[in-house]
Parts: sequence; structure tokens; C-alpha cells
Amino acid sequence: MHLSIMGSTGSVGRSAISVIEHANASPDDSTFTIEALTANRDVDTLARQAVTHGAKLAVIADASLYARLKEQLAGTDIEVAAGADAVAEAAARPVDRVLAAIVGIAGLQSTYAALNAGNSVALANKESMVCAGPLLKRVAREKDVSIVPTDSEHNAMFQVMERSQDVERLVLTASGGPFLNTPLNELHGVTPDQACEHPRWSMGRKISVDSATFMNKALELIEAAYLFDMPEACIDVLVHPQSIIHSLVAYRDGSVLAQLGSPDMKTPIAHALSWPHRRLPTDVDRLSLADLGRLEFAEVDAQRFPSIDLARHTLRQGTGATIVLNAANEMAVSAFLEGRCRFTEISRTVSRALEADIHASFSARGEPDIDAIAALDQEARRLSEALIAQPGERTRSHA
Ligand code: NDP
Repeated sequence: MHLSIMGSTGSVGRSAISVIEHANASPDDSTFTIEALTANRDVDTLARQAVTHGAKLAVIADASLYARLKEQLAGTDIEVAAGADAVAEAAARPVDRVLAAIVGIAGLQSTYAALNAGNSVALANKESMVCAGPLLKRVAREKDVSIVPTDSEHNAMFQVMERSQDVERLVLTASGGPFLNTPLNELHGVTPDQACEHPRWSMGRKISVDSATFMNKALELIEAAYLFDMPEACIDVLVHPQSIIHSLVAYRDGSVLAQLGSPDMKTPIAHALSWPHRRLPTDVDRLSLADLGRLEFAEVDAQRFPSIDLARHTLRQGTGATIVLNAANEMAVSAFLEGRCRFTEISRTVSRALEADIHASFSARGEPDIDAIAALDQEARRLSEALIAQPGERTRSHA
């Protein structure tokens, strides 16, 4: 299988490289070759991966690092390119599958370019589905290519999805993150390192903070609604601290199908890369239910984690609102990681950005194109930056 990885230096990207190494070392026919690898700024890892795995092309999104990448790949026949457009061009090169593993809306352009060029996409980059779900689905339909859900919960639902017409409800499971039981009055003072200390999953810093605020589950709710064409009222969120059941699909005959496994992204990545087959061996820990003994479940505490209600509210409003939610969250999470805003200000910033209603006429104009999405994203970022600079105003509830 010939593959490109957008965001190969990140947490998902590195797990994918590990899946490929394991598969290529296994004695069967599941060998991978690599067309393109991309990163934002991590030149050293990108260059090492490109050499080790014989990539044809290495692209660094930050154009100021072009010379360093070129220097590190001197003497090889690996092509080198730089800049956001070069990342999108890399995604459009013909391959069997593109793994979309860039973090944030920065991944949208390449996901869109890959589908538009007729490449099937294994989609980990949930923000591109949140901001452009209907557009990406339409392009995939027109080009007759697949979007294979790779986010673990959506991959789980995809694995147990039979005829979607027979589905009654989707159930997204949530580990609860590091602050599931932290007293509410202590959340104000938590640090970025505490927020990134996830009890079950090892992930990049942005998604780790999203897990701590529950915004990750909010984004996943929107992602599931778009991916599987389900109204938000038919999608439940269930806290399941052990992260063994990765999600469930309930059918109208009363059956509930679930996918289980150890909490390790290598399993959904292996599934998404080999789908429609299930060929790839992985080295993930095998599940022993007897050792686990019991699995626990609980309702989401909406007061502790207001993000889920915000997500439902945006889905009722349309894609303009989901773009604003995503942009405000990306800005607030960056500010939190840089020490410019408090943990509890993250969902408050998202809520205030939505109240500003800059998306009011957006969804009414029909399905937006990629430029309209980028323009609203930029406007929402400017608004959010201003809101972060003046924290502490009271917010209305969207519940
Ligand atoms: P990381 O932050 O670990 O990695 C992000 C990758 O994207 C890196 O390769 C990074 O390059 C690259 N990147 C960052 N900014 C840009 C940019 N502006 N332009 C081009 N490339 C960029 O993120 P994760 O791997 O944790 O997450 C990736 C995506 O997968 C996210 O959408 C996340 O929600 C989703 N996901 C992640 C899971 C996980 O377990 N981590 C699980 C399920 C979904 P560089 O290294 O140079 O900064």
C-alpha cells in the first residue's frame, strides 16, 4: 500500500509510523511504501522519518525551515518542499491512502486537497470534519473515495456500523480526562502540565487539553454527527474511565454493538490504513477482560463540562457555529498552554465567541466553500483573541 502521512511527526503520525514498521517487519503481503511525509516545525524528526522509510517527498509547513530540511536531506534523492500550499500539494499526490494527522484546522486544506485529488483519507484530524463536514463528505462522494474514521471513537463506530438506516443511537465513550473528579473550585488554578497528564492516552498537547475540558468530546460529537449523518439528539456521551469500550452503536432491534481494545491509537490506525481489510498485525497490549474485572460508566456532569451542551447548540445552528466553536477553542487552548488564560476561561471563551453571533448568516447561505470556511475561521480567531485579552465577563447558558 502506498501512503502519505500529513503530520507524521505528531503523536498520531508517530503511532502510524510504528504500525507501518511493525507491518513491514511481518511476514505477509501488507507492506507499505511512503510517498510524502509532512510536519510543521520538527525538521529533525521529519528528516529522520523520510530517510528511514524512503519517502519520496518531505514537506515542512513553516517555510522558514526549508533550508534546514534541505540541508539534512542533502545527498538523498528525497524531494523537499515548504509552506502550507506544499503540504496540500503533497496530500494531492496519488496514493492508496492519505493519513490526515495534522492538529487543528491547519489540517483542513490538505484533507480537502487529498479528497479532491481522488485519494482515500484516513481521518484523524477531527477539526477538519468539525469545520467542513458537509463539504468534505460531498467531495468524497463526488470523487468516489472513502473517508475512513481514524479517531478512536469514530473508528470504533465505523467498525460496528451496519446499515446506517437501522441505527437508533450512537454512544460516544469518554475517559473523563485528568479532572473527572477534581473539585470544581480547583479547576481555576490547574496548570498546562496537569491538564496534559491524561490518565489513559498519550497524545499531543492540544488534544490533551481538549480532553481535560471535554471539548475533545464536544468536537467528537460534531464529528460523529457529520460523519454518520446523525442528528445530535441521537448521539449520547457516556463517561467510561477505563477507555476499553471505544464507542457503541445501538440499533432499532435493541442490539448494541461495541468495539473494545486497549487504549492505544495503533489499533484504530491499523484498521483505518488496511480497511476494508483487517490485515495489519500490531504490537498493542492484548485485552484481558478477566484481569480488568469490571468496566465503569457514568453520565457526563454538564456543570463541570459545559462543552457538550455547546457542541449540541452549534450543531442545531449549522456549520458556521461549529467553525466558530473550533476557532475559539484553538485560540483559547493555545493561550492556556502559553500561560495567557486560565483553564476555566477556555470553555467561557468559546461560549462568548458563539454569543457574538458572527456566524449568523453563514449557515443560511447554503454549503460554504473552503475559502468561506477559512474566512470565518480567521474572523472567529480575531474575535477570540480579543475575548481572551478581556477575560471574566459573565456568559449566558446555551443548554
Ligand atoms: P500533535 O500535536 O502530536 O501532532 C500534530 C502534527 O501536525 C505534527 O506533525 C505537527 O508538526 C503538525 N502540525 C501542527 N501544526 C501544523 C500546521 N500549522 N501545518 C502543518 N502541520 C502542522 O497532534 P496529535 O497527533 O495528538 O493529533 C493530531 C490530530 O489527530 C488532531 O486533530 C487530534 O484531535 C487527532 N487525534 C489525536 C489522537 C491522539 O491520540 N493523539 C487520537 C484521536 C484523534 P510538528 O511536529 O512539526 O509540530
